[in-house]
Amino acid sequence: MIQPSKILKEKFGYDSFRANQEKAINAIIDGRDTLVLMPTGGGKSIIFQIAALCREGIGVVISPLIALMKDQVESLKSNGINAEFINSTQSQKEVDLIKSRIKNGTIDLIYVSPEKLLTRDIYDLLKQIDISLFAIDEAHCISQWGHDFRPEYIKIGKYINDFQNVPRVALTATADKVTQNDIVAQLQMKEPEIIIDSFNRPNISLNVLPANFRFDTILDFVRAHKDQSGIIYCLSRKTTESIADKLNNKGINAAFYHAGMSAEKRENVQDDFINDRVNIICATIAFGMGIDKSNIRWVIHYNLPKNIEGYYQEIGRAGRDGLPAQALLFYTYQDVILLKGFIEESNQKEILENKLERMQQYADSLVCRRRILLNYFNEQYDKNCGNCDVCNNPPQQFDGTIIAQKALSAIYRVNQQEPLSILIDILRGSGRAEIVNKNYQNLKTFGAGRDVSGFDWKYHFMQMINMGLIEVEYNNGNHLKLTQQSNEVLFNNRKVSLVHPTKATEVLATRAEKSKPKSQSSVLADELFIRLKALRLEQSRLRGIPPYIIFTDATLVEMSKKLPTMPIDMLEISGVGEAKMATYGQMFIDVIVKFVNEQSNLGKKQKGSTYIETWDLYGKDMTPEEIAIKRNLNPVTIYSHLAYLYEKGYSIDLRKYIFDEEIAKITEAVATYGNKALKPIYDHFEQKIEYHKIRIALTLISEKTE
Ligand code: ADP
Ligand code: ZN
Repeated sequence: MIQPSKILKEKFGYDSFRANQEKAINAIIDGRDTLVLMPTGGGKSIIFQIAALCREGIGVVISPLIALMKDQVESLKSNGINAEFINSTQSQKEVDLIKSRIKNGTIDLIYVSPEKLLTRDIYDLLKQIDISLFAIDEAHCISQWGHDFRPEYIKIGKYINDFQNVPRVALTATADKVTQNDIVAQLQMKEPEIIIDSFNRPNISLNVLPANFRFDTILDFVRAHKDQSGIIYCLSRKTTESIADKLNNKGINAAFYHAGMSAEKRENVQDDFINDRVNIICATIAFGMGIDKSNIRWVIHYNLPKNIEGYYQEIGRAGRDGLPAQALLFYTYQDVILLKGFIEESNQKEILENKLERMQQYADSLVCRRRILLNYFNEQYDKNCGNCDVCNNPPQQFDGTIIAQKALSAIYRVNQQEPLSILIDILRGSGRAEIVNKNYQNLKTFGAGRDVSGFDWKYHFMQMINMGLIEVEYNNGNHLKLTQQSNEVLFNNRKVSLVHPTKATEVLATRAEKSKPKSQSSVLADELFIRLKALRLEQSRLRGIPPYIIFTDATLVEMSKKLPTMPIDMLEISGVGEAKMATYGQMFIDVIVKFVNEQSNLGKKQKGSTYIETWDLYGKDMTPEEIAIKRNLNPVTIYSHLAYLYEKGYSIDLRKYIFDEEIAKITEAVATYGNKALKPIYDHFEQKIEYHKIRIALTLISEKTE
């Protein structure tokens, strides 16, 4: 059997498995049913892909999303793996061709939609061949309790029961226990190996901001993240369109996406995003399912999401490649009112209200946000993550008793019959008609809170609502009401502690400051990264495949740091397997070599650049002596460069610089003097054999003895 780790290196170009991947692969290879729960980007696909390559027969992957199928198959092909898909987008002729390839065993992995799988045609085909495994991707679709139920998924369990001794692998990023049990039961998995990964995504930085000046903040943000892909989630279709419009007016290329558009339009937008033709998508939550794009660098929530499940899934689309990514959520009282309004009309009111409250708790949190998220998913996490706004910018508490007393007494004086906006106007002493008409200027609290801005008032009211000091009558004009607890503040002098609102500049500035003092080498790496990205984009257009399938951002970042200039070095880069080396290796090396040479011409020496310069001139058929003159170096230095390059596997004909007899003589001398220093050997031959020949001989001799 082929070793999984060998496939990982040769095909995918990765050095080692992640925490649970190997365990899952081994279970499947042993023929066990396996359930894998991992967050988005956790690396689920490699599990069944490698297991299928290790076992006899063809791996059958059932996947509900056509875009995802296409993406994975393209990605496998680019790694030199024989994979195809069968779904409703193909002509009968195409399907027939694939079927015949399945029969003659020239395909290792076949992706099928559940609808196609259930046809007689495919059933008969599968019955005739050897199957290595059934992988059921997005397995939560089987659960009626889940958010993505697909009726066809129910039939899969019975269907695959007809195929004895074929392991079933179910994969999902939905973690809850009910769904988990449902999957095992529906797929009739026998004593399954259940592998549950941590749902933490440490590379995603979590940030929440109050929603004032939302658009300006977004503008600053996208300008600071130039040329990066990102999604802006909005609650309404109208907002997606207006934000995209406003961004375009500012010269930023953005598109919108929502369920009200034609299927064709939606597909085009998605395609533009996947292929880096447009960087920013303003979308409703209809967008993102079935997108595998690994280089989404940020996700902004323009509005508060309905629940944490949805929120986590949406931000999880960022940073699949493991590189740093940002999540930014705007939080406003209006959204809470709006969402509560939707919930009023639902028949699951209590559950939904509860979920929304948990979402608010997250947004309001004064402790590490990651703790709230992971605890919500029942995962133990009790340290501070250091990668959220609360950790980086701990909120400053202050004694807010007087502010609270003013607010509560304003509510009291309007007989608990007014919404937030009126109360703030009263506190701030507004002279607008509605206030005057109601004679509120005569209230004792009128103007009592002029010293606090309207925005801060809103923020403090929200905190008091969340503390239980104030209640909102969502079903009755959103009037604010007093509670048992508010009486204690009003009449028993109970202390209230509040925090000041976070300022966008603070959250964004700490980030900028942190990344500011860049070393010279990282600035250069950035410059090279841009060039590598440009080459990737060019190739993507040429071949009609998404850029991230060619190489992930993570792979390009590693290239720009390690500067591989030869195939063996390039193969060491994570994400460069043999197939990608053959297709793309040399052209990326060329860009790196050119860059390194430019740098050394500018006097900015890169590690190893002196060798590359020599190598470059050697490639132009110059002799070592000519190279020495050109580079103003000693010829011995050039010979030693060539010997070094040779040792590194570069194709250099060293033997043309030395006779075999000389090598033989030097071999004898090495036996006496060792191979560490040249001088004793040079002296031994009374300086009749030149230094450079000794240097070259040592390389050739040590190669022989290895
Ligand atoms: P999931 O299906 O769980 O969302 P993917 O299978 O798409 O995740 O993997 C996410 C990213 O991580 C991909 O770019 C993938 O190539 C990469 N990856 C997976 N396993 C490894 C590994 N062992 N080492 C390095 N990168 C990996
Ligand atoms: Zn934190």
